[in-house]
Amino acid sequence: METKVISVLQDYNTAAREGAKIIRSGGLVAFPTETVYGLGADGLDGAAVDRIFEAKGRPNDNPLILHVAEKEAAFRLWVAEPPRARALMDTFWPGPLTLIYYRSDMVPDEVTAGLDTVAVRMPDNQAARALIAASGVPIAAPSANLSGKPSPTTAAHVLQDMEGRIPLILDGGPCRYGVESTVLSLVGTPTILRPGAVTKEMLAAVLGEVALAPSILAPLGAGEKAASPGMKYKHYAPNAQVFVVVGEAQAAAARLSALYDQFAAAGKRPYIAATAEAMPFYGPRRCALLGTRRDPTTLCSRLFSLLRELDQEADVILSEGIGTEGTGLAFMNRLLRSAGFRVEYL
Ligand code: AMP
Ligand code: MG
Repeated sequence: METKVISVLQDYNTAAREGAKIIRSGGLVAFPTETVYGLGADGLDGAAVDRIFEAKGRPNDNPLILHVAEKEAAFRLWVAEPPRARALMDTFWPGPLTLIYYRSDMVPDEVTAGLDTVAVRMPDNQAARALIAASGVPIAAPSANLSGKPSPTTAAHVLQDMEGRIPLILDGGPCRYGVESTVLSLVGTPTILRPGAVTKEMLAAVLGEVALAPSILAPLGAGEKAASPGMKYKHYAPNAQVFVVVGEAQAAAARLSALYDQFAAAGKRPYIAATAEAMPFYGPRRCALLGTRRDPTTLCSRLFSLLRELDQEADVILSEGIGTEGTGLAFMNRLLRSAGFRVEYL
Protein backbone atom coordinates (compact mmCIF):
# COMPACT_ATOMS: atom_id res chain seq x y z
CA MET A 1 0.00 0.00 0.00
CA GLU A 2 1.29 3.44 -0.91
CA THR A 3 1.26 5.98 1.94
CA LYS A 4 0.29 9.48 0.82
CA VAL A 5 1.31 12.53 2.89
CA ILE A 6 -0.71 15.74 2.50
CA SER A 7 -0.18 19.03 4.30
CA VAL A 8 -3.03 20.54 6.29
CA LEU A 9 -1.22 23.81 6.87
CA GLN A 10 -2.62 25.66 3.83
CA ASP A 11 -6.09 24.15 3.50
CA TYR A 12 -7.13 21.75 6.24
CA ASN A 13 -10.72 21.40 5.01
CA THR A 14 -9.76 19.76 1.69
CA ALA A 15 -7.32 17.45 3.50
CA ALA A 16 -10.01 16.62 6.08
CA ARG A 17 -12.50 15.68 3.36
CA GLU A 18 -9.96 13.35 1.73
CA GLY A 19 -9.22 11.77 5.13
CA ALA A 20 -12.91 11.44 5.97
CA LYS A 21 -13.53 9.40 2.79
CA ILE A 22 -10.99 6.85 4.04
CA ILE A 23 -12.35 6.87 7.62
CA ARG A 24 -15.92 6.33 6.40
CA SER A 25 -14.84 3.36 4.28
CA GLY A 26 -13.22 1.67 7.30
CA GLY A 27 -9.60 2.72 6.61
CA LEU A 28 -6.88 4.39 8.70
CA VAL A 29 -5.68 8.00 8.62
CA ALA A 30 -2.83 9.47 10.68
CA PHE A 31 -3.49 13.05 11.76
CA PRO A 32 -1.85 15.80 13.82
CA THR A 33 -3.08 16.84 17.25
CA GLU A 34 -1.62 19.25 19.81
CA THR A 35 -0.20 16.25 21.76
CA VAL A 36 1.23 13.68 19.31
CA TYR A 37 0.12 12.29 15.91
CA GLY A 38 -2.86 9.95 16.12
CA LEU A 39 -3.70 6.88 14.03
CA GLY A 40 -7.43 7.17 13.44
CA ALA A 41 -10.31 4.90 12.44
CA ASP A 42 -14.12 5.08 12.64
CA GLY A 43 -14.62 4.68 16.40
CA LEU A 44 -18.06 3.12 16.00
CA ASP A 45 -16.88 0.38 13.60
CA GLY A 46 -15.20 -2.54 15.41
CA ALA A 47 -13.62 -3.94 12.23
CA ALA A 48 -12.06 -0.56 11.38
CA VAL A 49 -10.73 -0.24 14.95
CA ASP A 50 -9.16 -3.70 14.66
CA ARG A 51 -7.05 -2.38 11.76
CA ILE A 52 -5.41 0.12 14.14
CA PHE A 53 -4.20 -2.70 16.41
CA GLU A 54 -2.92 -4.58 13.36
CA ALA A 55 -1.03 -1.57 11.87
CA LYS A 56 0.63 -0.72 15.20
CA GLY A 57 1.22 -4.26 16.43
CA ARG A 58 -0.62 -3.11 19.57
CA PRO A 59 -1.67 -5.70 22.20
CA ASN A 60 -5.46 -5.92 21.87
CA ASP A 61 -6.12 -5.55 25.60
CA ASN A 62 -4.91 -1.90 25.46
CA PRO A 63 -7.94 0.38 24.91
CA LEU A 64 -8.10 3.43 22.62
CA ILE A 65 -9.23 7.03 23.10
CA LEU A 66 -12.27 8.30 21.16
CA HIS A 67 -11.75 11.79 19.70
CA VAL A 68 -14.70 14.15 19.25
CA ALA A 69 -15.05 17.50 17.45
CA GLU A 70 -17.52 19.05 19.91
CA LYS A 71 -18.31 18.61 23.59
CA GLU A 72 -21.88 17.33 23.23
CA ALA A 73 -20.68 14.35 21.16
CA ALA A 74 -18.77 13.08 24.21
CA PHE A 75 -21.93 12.69 26.29
CA ARG A 76 -23.38 10.19 23.80
CA LEU A 77 -20.39 7.90 24.35
CA TRP A 78 -20.84 7.67 28.15
CA VAL A 79 -23.79 5.99 29.83
CA ALA A 80 -24.49 9.18 31.84
CA GLU A 81 -22.86 12.54 32.46
CA PRO A 82 -19.67 11.86 34.44
CA PRO A 83 -19.39 13.74 37.76
CA ARG A 84 -17.43 17.02 37.33
CA ALA A 85 -17.12 16.48 33.57
CA ARG A 86 -18.81 19.78 32.61
CA ALA A 87 -16.43 21.88 34.71
CA LEU A 88 -13.40 20.00 33.37
CA MET A 89 -14.55 20.26 29.75
CA ASP A 90 -15.33 23.97 30.13
CA THR A 91 -11.84 24.59 31.49
CA PHE A 92 -9.66 22.24 29.42
CA TRP A 93 -11.49 21.32 26.17
CA PRO A 94 -10.48 21.48 23.46
CA GLY A 95 -7.15 20.37 24.88
CA PRO A 96 -4.85 17.61 26.15
CA LEU A 97 -7.20 16.08 28.73
CA THR A 98 -8.84 12.66 28.23
CA LEU A 99 -11.80 11.76 30.45
CA ILE A 100 -12.79 8.19 31.35
CA TYR A 101 -16.25 7.09 32.47
CA TYR A 102 -18.69 4.19 31.98
CA ARG A 103 -19.37 3.63 28.29
CA SER A 104 -22.71 3.72 26.44
CA ASP A 105 -23.95 0.94 24.14
CA MET A 106 -22.72 2.89 21.09
CA VAL A 107 -19.10 2.09 21.86
CA PRO A 108 -17.75 -1.15 20.35
CA ASP A 109 -15.76 -3.62 22.48
CA GLU A 110 -12.75 -3.21 20.20
CA VAL A 111 -12.31 0.41 21.39
CA THR A 112 -12.43 -0.34 25.11
CA ALA A 113 -10.67 -3.71 24.92
CA GLY A 114 -13.67 -5.14 26.74
CA LEU A 115 -13.60 -2.65 29.65
CA ASP A 116 -16.89 -1.10 30.84
CA THR A 117 -15.38 2.40 30.59
CA VAL A 118 -14.38 4.55 27.62
CA ALA A 119 -11.80 7.34 27.22
CA VAL A 120 -12.87 10.51 25.33
CA ARG A 121 -11.08 13.68 24.31
CA MET A 122 -11.59 16.80 22.14
CA PRO A 123 -8.25 17.75 20.54
CA ASP A 124 -7.11 21.38 20.26
CA ASN A 125 -6.14 21.15 16.59
CA GLN A 126 -8.34 22.50 13.81
CA ALA A 127 -7.28 19.92 11.24
CA ALA A 128 -8.01 17.07 13.68
CA ARG A 129 -11.44 18.46 14.49
CA ALA A 130 -12.19 19.08 10.78
CA LEU A 131 -11.31 15.43 10.06
CA ILE A 132 -13.61 14.20 12.86
CA ALA A 133 -16.45 16.52 11.81
CA ALA A 134 -16.16 15.54 8.12
CA SER A 135 -16.13 11.84 9.10
CA GLY A 136 -19.34 12.29 11.12
CA VAL A 137 -18.21 9.77 13.78
CA PRO A 138 -15.92 9.82 16.81
CA ILE A 139 -12.43 8.80 15.71
CA ALA A 140 -10.66 6.11 17.73
CA ALA A 141 -6.96 6.93 17.80
CA PRO A 142 -3.87 5.85 19.71
CA SER A 143 -0.49 7.41 18.93
CA ALA A 144 0.59 6.71 15.33
CA ASN A 145 3.80 4.81 16.18
CA LEU A 146 4.64 1.11 16.10
CA SER A 147 3.67 -0.29 19.50
CA GLY A 148 6.47 0.22 22.06
CA LYS A 149 8.29 2.97 20.10
CA PRO A 150 8.45 6.69 20.98
CA SER A 151 5.27 8.51 19.95
CA PRO A 152 5.46 10.52 16.69
CA THR A 153 5.55 14.32 16.95
CA THR A 154 6.05 15.00 13.22
CA ALA A 155 4.60 13.50 10.02
CA ALA A 156 8.12 12.22 9.20
CA HIS A 157 8.08 10.13 12.42
CA VAL A 158 4.71 8.65 11.41
CA LEU A 159 6.08 7.80 7.96
CA GLN A 160 9.11 6.08 9.58
CA ASP A 161 6.80 3.68 11.44
CA MET A 162 3.71 3.45 9.20
CA GLU A 163 4.96 3.65 5.59
CA GLY A 164 3.19 0.96 3.55
CA ARG A 165 0.79 0.18 6.41
CA ILE A 166 -1.70 3.06 6.06
CA PRO A 167 -3.02 5.02 3.03
CA LEU A 168 -2.84 8.61 4.35
CA ILE A 169 -0.92 10.88 6.72
CA LEU A 170 -2.13 14.45 7.31
CA ASP A 171 0.93 16.63 7.93
CA GLY A 172 0.33 19.48 10.38
CA GLY A 173 3.98 20.15 11.27
CA PRO A 174 5.49 19.48 14.74
CA CYS A 175 3.04 18.91 17.63
CA ARG A 176 2.80 21.68 20.23
CA TYR A 177 3.08 19.56 23.41
CA GLY A 178 4.88 16.45 22.17
CA VAL A 179 3.56 14.17 24.93
CA GLU A 180 0.20 12.40 24.97
CA SER A 181 -2.87 13.73 26.78
CA THR A 182 -3.43 13.59 30.51
CA VAL A 183 -5.76 10.61 31.16
CA LEU A 184 -8.17 11.20 34.06
CA SER A 185 -10.63 8.59 35.32
CA LEU A 186 -13.89 9.99 36.72
CA VAL A 187 -14.96 6.63 38.10
CA GLY A 188 -14.82 7.07 41.90
CA THR A 189 -12.17 9.53 43.14
CA PRO A 190 -10.81 11.43 40.11
CA THR A 191 -7.52 9.70 39.33
CA ILE A 192 -4.76 10.57 36.88
CA LEU A 193 -3.85 7.39 35.01
CA ARG A 194 -1.35 9.12 32.73
CA PRO A 195 0.13 12.61 33.30
CA GLY A 196 0.25 15.17 30.48
CA ALA A 197 0.24 18.88 29.75
CA VAL A 198 -2.89 19.37 31.89
CA THR A 199 -1.13 18.94 35.21
CA LYS A 200 -2.21 17.55 38.58
CA GLU A 201 -2.01 21.11 39.94
CA MET A 202 -4.31 22.43 37.16
CA LEU A 203 -6.83 19.63 37.77
CA ALA A 204 -6.73 20.14 41.53
CA ALA A 205 -7.66 23.81 40.99
CA VAL A 206 -10.94 22.63 39.42
CA LEU A 207 -11.60 19.41 41.35
CA GLY A 208 -10.01 19.85 44.75
CA GLU A 209 -8.58 16.37 45.40
CA VAL A 210 -6.99 14.40 42.53
CA ALA A 211 -5.31 11.02 43.00
CA LEU A 212 -2.35 9.68 41.02
CA ALA A 213 -2.29 6.07 39.81
CA PRO A 214 0.64 4.29 41.50
CA SER A 215 2.39 3.13 38.32
CA ILE A 216 3.13 6.63 36.97
CA LEU A 217 6.75 6.76 38.14
CA ALA A 218 7.48 3.14 39.00
CA PRO A 219 7.06 -0.23 37.32
CA LEU A 220 4.06 -2.30 38.33
CA GLY A 221 4.78 -4.65 41.22
CA ALA A 222 4.37 -8.39 40.70
CA GLY A 223 0.65 -9.25 40.64
CA GLU A 224 -0.35 -5.55 40.66
CA LYS A 225 -3.13 -4.62 38.22
CA ALA A 226 -2.61 -1.61 35.91
CA ALA A 227 -5.32 1.06 36.34
CA SER A 228 -4.70 1.79 32.68
CA PRO A 229 -3.80 -1.28 30.62
CA GLY A 230 -1.28 0.74 28.58
CA MET A 231 0.92 1.14 31.65
CA LYS A 232 1.94 -2.47 31.87
CA TYR A 233 3.73 -2.55 28.53
CA LYS A 234 7.22 -1.55 27.49
CA HIS A 235 6.70 1.92 26.10
CA TYR A 236 8.30 4.84 24.26
CA ALA A 237 11.54 2.85 23.89
CA PRO A 238 14.13 3.65 21.23
CA ASN A 239 16.50 0.87 20.10
CA ALA A 240 19.31 2.42 22.17
CA GLN A 241 19.40 1.69 25.91
CA VAL A 242 18.33 4.72 27.95
CA PHE A 243 19.78 5.56 31.40
CA VAL A 244 18.47 8.39 33.58
CA VAL A 245 20.17 10.37 36.36
CA VAL A 246 17.97 12.65 38.49
CA GLY A 247 19.70 15.40 40.41
CA GLU A 248 20.76 19.04 40.45
CA ALA A 249 22.31 20.10 37.10
CA GLN A 250 26.04 20.06 37.92
CA ALA A 251 25.91 16.84 39.98
CA ALA A 252 23.83 15.04 37.35
CA ALA A 253 26.26 16.17 34.64
CA ALA A 254 29.22 14.79 36.63
CA ARG A 255 27.56 11.39 37.08
CA LEU A 256 26.36 11.20 33.45
CA SER A 257 29.84 12.20 32.22
CA ALA A 258 31.36 9.33 34.23
CA LEU A 259 28.82 6.89 32.76
CA TYR A 260 29.51 8.28 29.27
CA ASP A 261 33.25 7.66 29.68
CA GLN A 262 32.65 4.10 30.91
CA PHE A 263 30.41 3.26 27.96
CA ALA A 264 32.82 4.90 25.48
CA ALA A 265 35.74 2.92 26.97
CA ALA A 266 33.70 -0.28 26.52
CA GLY A 267 33.34 0.48 22.79
CA LYS A 268 29.74 1.75 22.97
CA ARG A 269 28.41 4.90 21.27
CA PRO A 270 26.91 7.02 24.07
CA TYR A 271 25.05 10.31 23.65
CA ILE A 272 23.86 12.69 26.37
CA ALA A 273 20.38 14.28 26.48
CA ALA A 274 21.06 17.43 28.45
CA THR A 275 19.21 20.39 29.92
CA ALA A 276 20.47 23.90 29.16
CA GLU A 277 21.46 24.30 32.81
CA ALA A 278 23.85 21.31 32.72
CA MET A 279 25.15 21.74 29.17
CA PRO A 280 28.34 23.65 30.19
CA PHE A 281 29.48 20.72 32.38
CA TYR A 282 29.81 18.00 29.72
CA GLY A 283 33.01 19.19 28.03
CA PRO A 284 33.66 17.62 24.63
CA ARG A 285 31.21 14.71 25.06
CA ARG A 286 28.41 14.30 22.49
CA CYS A 287 25.35 16.15 23.84
CA ALA A 288 21.92 17.09 22.54
CA LEU A 289 19.77 19.81 24.09
CA LEU A 290 16.44 18.70 25.59
CA GLY A 291 15.27 22.09 26.86
CA THR A 292 15.37 24.01 30.10
CA ARG A 293 14.66 22.83 33.65
CA ARG A 294 12.85 26.11 34.27
CA ASP A 295 10.12 25.03 31.85
CA PRO A 296 9.56 21.24 31.70
CA THR A 297 7.09 21.71 28.82
CA THR A 298 10.18 22.35 26.64
CA LEU A 299 11.58 18.98 27.74
CA CYS A 300 8.25 17.25 27.01
CA SER A 301 7.98 18.68 23.52
CA ARG A 302 11.52 17.62 22.60
CA LEU A 303 11.76 14.19 24.27
CA PHE A 304 10.25 11.82 21.71
CA SER A 305 11.82 13.47 18.67
CA LEU A 306 15.20 13.49 20.42
CA LEU A 307 14.96 9.77 21.24
CA ARG A 308 14.24 9.05 17.57
CA GLU A 309 17.13 11.26 16.38
CA LEU A 310 19.66 9.87 18.85
CA ASP A 311 18.72 6.34 17.83
CA GLN A 312 20.54 7.06 14.55
CA GLU A 313 23.74 8.17 16.35
CA ALA A 314 23.98 6.18 19.56
CA ASP A 315 23.45 2.83 21.22
CA VAL A 316 23.33 4.31 24.73
CA ILE A 317 21.32 7.45 25.58
CA LEU A 318 22.21 9.08 28.91
CA SER A 319 19.52 11.53 30.02
CA GLU A 320 19.08 13.97 32.84
CA GLY A 321 15.91 13.61 34.88
CA ILE A 322 14.14 16.40 36.76
CA GLY A 323 11.60 16.94 39.55
CA THR A 324 7.95 15.97 39.11
CA GLU A 325 6.23 19.33 39.69
CA GLY A 326 3.90 20.58 36.93
CA THR A 327 4.68 19.08 33.52
CA GLY A 328 7.84 17.55 35.05
CA LEU A 329 5.60 14.61 35.99
CA ALA A 330 4.63 13.93 32.35
CA PHE A 331 8.26 14.25 31.27
CA MET A 332 9.54 11.83 33.94
CA ASN A 333 6.70 9.36 33.29
CA ARG A 334 7.69 9.08 29.59
CA LEU A 335 11.45 9.23 30.18
CA LEU A 336 11.47 6.53 32.89
CA ARG A 337 9.39 4.21 30.69
CA SER A 338 11.67 4.78 27.70
CA ALA A 339 14.52 3.81 30.04
CA GLY A 340 12.74 0.69 31.29
CA PHE A 341 13.11 2.36 34.75
CA ARG A 342 16.94 2.33 34.67
CA VAL A 343 17.33 5.39 36.90
CA GLU A 344 19.65 6.77 39.60
CA TYR A 345 18.47 9.42 42.06
CA LEU A 346 21.39 11.49 43.39
P1 AMP B 1 -2.52 6.02 23.35
O1 AMP B 1 -3.73 6.00 22.51
O2 AMP B 1 -1.35 5.33 22.75
O3 AMP B 1 -2.23 7.41 23.81
O4 AMP B 1 -2.97 5.21 24.61
C1 AMP B 1 -4.19 5.50 25.26
C2 AMP B 1 -3.99 5.35 26.73
O5 AMP B 1 -5.23 5.51 27.42
C3 AMP B 1 -3.42 3.99 27.09
O6 AMP B 1 -2.51 4.11 28.14
C4 AMP B 1 -4.69 3.25 27.52
O7 AMP B 1 -4.39 2.17 28.38
C5 AMP B 1 -5.48 4.36 28.20
N1 AMP B 1 -6.93 4.08 28.19
C6 AMP B 1 -7.77 4.17 27.15
N2 AMP B 1 -9.01 3.81 27.50
C7 AMP B 1 -8.97 3.48 28.81
C8 AMP B 1 -9.94 3.02 29.75
N3 AMP B 1 -11.21 2.82 29.40
N4 AMP B 1 -9.52 2.78 31.02
C9 AMP B 1 -8.23 3.00 31.38
N5 AMP B 1 -7.27 3.43 30.52
C10 AMP B 1 -7.62 3.67 29.25
MG1 MG C 1 0.75 5.36 22.46
